[in-house]
Amino acid sequence: LVQLYIPLNFMGMLYREIKQALIDIDDMFDIIEKNPEIEDKPGAKPLQVTQGVVRFADVHFAYIPERPILKGVSFEVPAGHTVAIVGPSGAGKSTISRLLFRFYEPTSGRILIDGQDIADVQQSSLRKIIGMVPQDTVLFNDTIGYNVQYGRWDADAEEVREAARLAQIDRFIGLLPESYDTPVGERGLKLSGGEKQRVAIARTILKGPPVLVLDEATSALDTFTEKEIQDALDRVSRGRTTLVIAHRLSTIIGADEIIVLDQGRIVERGTHTSLLDQGGVYAAMWNRQRQVDEARETLKRAEEEE
Ligand code: ADP
Ligand code: MG
Repeated sequence: LVQLYIPLNFMGMLYREIKQALIDIDDMFDIIEKNPEIEDKPGAKPLQVTQGVVRFADVHFAYIPERPILKGVSFEVPAGHTVAIVGPSGAGKSTISRLLFRFYEPTSGRILIDGQDIADVQQSSLRKIIGMVPQDTVLFNDTIGYNVQYGRWDADAEEVREAARLAQIDRFIGLLPESYDTPVGERGLKLSGGEKQRVAIARTILKGPPVLVLDEATSALDTFTEKEIQDALDRVSRGRTTLVIAHRLSTIIGADEIIVLDQGRIVERGTHTSLLDQGGVYAAMWNRQRQVDEARETLKRAEEEE
């Protein structure tokens, strides 16, 4: 019986969840009113992924015509590589991920995956190949097992366990009263932010998409959780084309390229070391974050000594 209603329900839930994760609740009503759902072009073909190269070519975008948000953004994420986007709040970082999912279309410029303009392909095929680990994962009012399984319905119990293990949530699940059958969500066990994020990572591992978008949590998790989550994220992004929207610069030191976005323009780009050498915006952000971290450490040590 359960199997029967899943496929229908599933697409709706998937869509809602991603959209919810990418869009501030405040904005949501606006979007529903002003942006009727984007439709497939007549005769649109499924996206053919060969390598998973993602390319933004001179992308301009505005939610409302009089206020441009992206002003000519170009970058490429080579197959299996990681590109990180950093920058102040409101710079347009999340907008980039919304455009990649084609929740909106660029005003001009193109977004290509393996050379195919995403505006020309079936949306369902586009969303199938992109995995998303949002900053705030919404869990379904169902078992924790269901919440992981949702990454791929035909995965068997062993694959679900393996995904949970890689996401470092398996031991936690093992300690729950009914293990994988423990209800979670609003009507079940409330999970912490870090636990929810690991469920999202397990789901994504199970889905195994060639392209991955990671939206890091803005709020500071405790250091231990942060390191565990980082390890899990590193594992899921290995060998996949990954776009990271980063808040903690310490998590993107190893990125192949870091893009600094400010007011819709790329103002700096390079590796962590080259950007530090440049001594510009990124270097300043890095130093500021280090000072904050050190201050936190000092405070914590002082508290522990009391
Ligand atoms: P970031 O993720 O870098 O903080 P966003 O991409 O979310 O920034 O937003 C960039 C700008 O676009 C912000 O000024 C924001 O207020 C605006 N914006 C975001 N969503 C909408 C929307 N649905 N309608 C109008 N403006 C929006
Ligand atoms: Mg954002």
